[in-house]
Amino acid sequence: MRNLARVILIALFTVACVVLAQSQQKIDLIIGGGTIVTMDASRAIIKDGGIAVLGDSIVAVGPLKDIEQHYTSAQMIDARGRLVLPGFINGHTHVPMTLFRGLHDDVTLNDWLYKYIFPAEAKNVNEEFVRWGTRLAAAEQIRSGVTTFADMYYFEDAVAEESKAAGMRAVLGETFIDFPAPDNKSEAEMLSYTEKFLKRWQGDPLIEAAPAPHSIYTCSKKTLQDAAALARRYHAPILIHVAEMKKEWDDSEKEHAMSPVAYLNSIGVLGPDVIAAHCIFVDAADQKLLAEKDVGCVHNPSSNMMLASGVSPVADLRSAGVAVGLGTDGPAGSNNDLDLMEEIDLAAKLAKITKMNPLALNAKAVVEMATIDGARAIHMEKEIGSLEAGKKADLVLISLDEPNAVPMYDAYAQIAYSLKASDVETVIIGGRVVMRDHKLLTIDEPAVLEKARDYGESVEKSLGMK
Ligand SMILES: [Zn+2]
Repeated sequence: MRNLARVILIALFTVACVVLAQSQQKIDLIIGGGTIVTMDASRAIIKDGGIAVLGDSIVAVGPLKDIEQHYTSAQMIDARGRLVLPGFINGHTHVPMTLFRGLHDDVTLNDWLYKYIFPAEAKNVNEEFVRWGTRLAAAEQIRSGVTTFADMYYFEDAVAEESKAAGMRAVLGETFIDFPAPDNKSEAEMLSYTEKFLKRWQGDPLIEAAPAPHSIYTCSKKTLQDAAALARRYHAPILIHVAEMKKEWDDSEKEHAMSPVAYLNSIGVLGPDVIAAHCIFVDAADQKLLAEKDVGCVHNPSSNMMLASGVSPVADLRSAGVAVGLGTDGPAGSNNDLDLMEEIDLAAKLAKITKMNPLALNAKAVVEMATIDGARAIHMEKEIGSLEAGKKADLVLISLDEPNAVPMYDAYAQIAYSLKASDVETVIIGGRVVMRDHKLLTIDEPAVLEKARDYGESVEKSLGMK
């Protein structure tokens, strides 16, 4: 009798296993066991959570036991003892400028641009320079947990190729500016280059090509309008610096009798496809206009402090309903690195000291700016910015094993004020692991570092510094 009962039990167990296996969906990757900071609409935080990934997207997020019940995968990443977050979004930068890092600091933005950086660019920037600068930037950004960035520079087609090779997601703006640029010498050339660039990358899973009129102080009304019209023909976003210095505001008031934001609106540039970097000099009327037009703003605290440009009224913009993301700005003259985790920390502290109020901008708000609000600011909130079914599998695992990481009472406070870029351990973009246990998998890091040192020497020589 006892033997019969045993046989029946084994048979039942086998049937249960077969039924379970048949009801389980085969997927490509499970990230399991960590504390998942989802940044979804309810801002759910799931302890001992699991994320199921199929192809480049997330199919489910929930308690690990539920995920394991419904999904099976040959590949599993153990996230126990770690925070799992949506990848950070660097909403404004100029990545090839990594190779000018630290070239000339401690000067005004106007002097830095016209006396130093524009001449240095004229002498050194070519397609090869842009490729190596982008590779260096990709290594640095992945190491700080950045999975998506928005860029404005020259030879942006080469930036696109290198970003894609590194496995990064990017919105890449080819610069329009009213003087001969390192790649295109006239507005006609800029238009034709950018149209080709837009056509080439349409429908790419990682790269979004865009025109980037530099600013109202370097572009005529015609250049601004032509760049915007081109963007709209191809349903591409428009990247632009907006209200980033006092002189820009004063000149706009003098020339157009209105603020930079009002001027851009008056010529038809503002719209739900615009990604506006800085937005420092924006009064209540401008803030209302930015919200009404669904413009995304990107706050760059390091850059604004380093250049003493001013302080963007981030809390006011958020209250007015504007999507505000975070950016590093270029890694030369205005930061000088691409560490977005540092910007998270500084955004909160800069807002607090400016308002002399420690409640001005809290940890949760600045983590939102680096993730879901950053996605809204670059108009990609349907694809990225949170960990939930249907979104791209862009995520980071952050170690909690360093002295600066323990104990942990509040995940948002830990991310904003305690954790460092060096705590980022594993990075996944579109389901592809691009860094595992601190090792970059898509970039030959030693070769990139060596080449960057060589460029340092040749840039110094070109400027007669050696
Ligand atoms: Zn910039």
